[in-house]
Amino acid sequence: MENVVIIGSGPAGLTAGIYTSRAALNPILIAGLQPGGQLTTTSIVENWPGTPEGVDGNKLMQDMRAQAEKYGTRMMHGTVTKIEKIAGGFRLETDNGSIETKTVIVATGASAITLPLPNKEKLMGYGLSTCAVCDGFFYRNKVVAVVGGGDSAMEEAHYLAKLAASVTLVHRRDKFRASKAMQEKVFNNPKIKIIWNTEVVDTVADSSGLTGIVMKNSNGETSQLKVDGLFMAIGHNPNTEFLRGVIELDSQGYVLCKPGSTATSVAGIFAAGDVEDNKFRQAITSAGRGCQAALEAERFIEGHDH
Ligand code: NAP
Repeated sequence: MENVVIIGSGPAGLTAGIYTSRAALNPILIAGLQPGGQLTTTSIVENWPGTPEGVDGNKLMQDMRAQAEKYGTRMMHGTVTKIEKIAGGFRLETDNGSIETKTVIVATGASAITLPLPNKEKLMGYGLSTCAVCDGFFYRNKVVAVVGGGDSAMEEAHYLAKLAASVTLVHRRDKFRASKAMQEKVFNNPKIKIIWNTEVVDTVADSSGLTGIVMKNSNGETSQLKVDGLFMAIGHNPNTEFLRGVIELDSQGYVLCKPGSTATSVAGIFAAGDVEDNKFRQAITSAGRGCQAALEAERFIEGHDH
């Protein structure tokens, strides 16, 4: 039986890997569908302490992975489909077979939410996107819109403004919820136009993909905007489907942890990062929670080994 299996390879999972491997627990880390997590779809991370010039999101994750592997974290590809309680621990079903372990650290993060637009499935990748860093290249000198009012939307708009001919940021309220610093970047960018109090309700498309969006403002008036691309940056859902009925989740699907702890409702299962944090969701807070989960798993195992 393994000591600890970490599920997820974002800042929380990899930090848990660094700590548990340095504690000689010989962890297995299951990387999931998006190895490296959300930071691999971001550009420069400017708020990671110790990097006054900023750090490329992909590079940061590669370095974290190298550091976890250096101390002996065993990386495994694939996803976990099921967790069940067995004597002395848990059995995890993965697409690469099953693993038995004394403890589990869930660090599966969250995934982008999309608007319920007609033709969405058909147009994803043909004008609709949730990731400017991944798809921005295809919109060089083209006209794009971004929807959302949080940090992600600011970041997407700012990034796209470097490539696209113009960027229209469409937000449903008259205020952004993004941090002041990110808002300032957008307000000061002459290439970004903002449309307030407006929702994107439909798409216009031809055989090659998206050609425009239909918007509705708070007075109920609709209008069309010609765009080649629409980037949806309206938040995230926690990746917890496989945990339903296993541990307690809140009404939005986030893992519920005990106050001040990464312990979940089931002893031996810990959670860290965006999968349990609906409030801060920063790379640095996720990494901190990954460290906490690793230390708590270590203490749990010590208690059980006596
Ligand atoms: P978020 O903060 O939850 O913001 C989501 C935005 O989308 C809100 O402005 C919301 O509008 C809007 N929205 C939600 N559903 C919508 C719908 N159906 N139609 C239209 N608009 C909709 O999500 P996020 O921007 O992804 O950020 C998530 C977390 O990651 C935050 O804690 C953020 O600080 C962090 N983050 C940090 C950085 C950074 O520091 N560099 C970068 C990216 C993300 P309302 O405002 O009206 O609710």
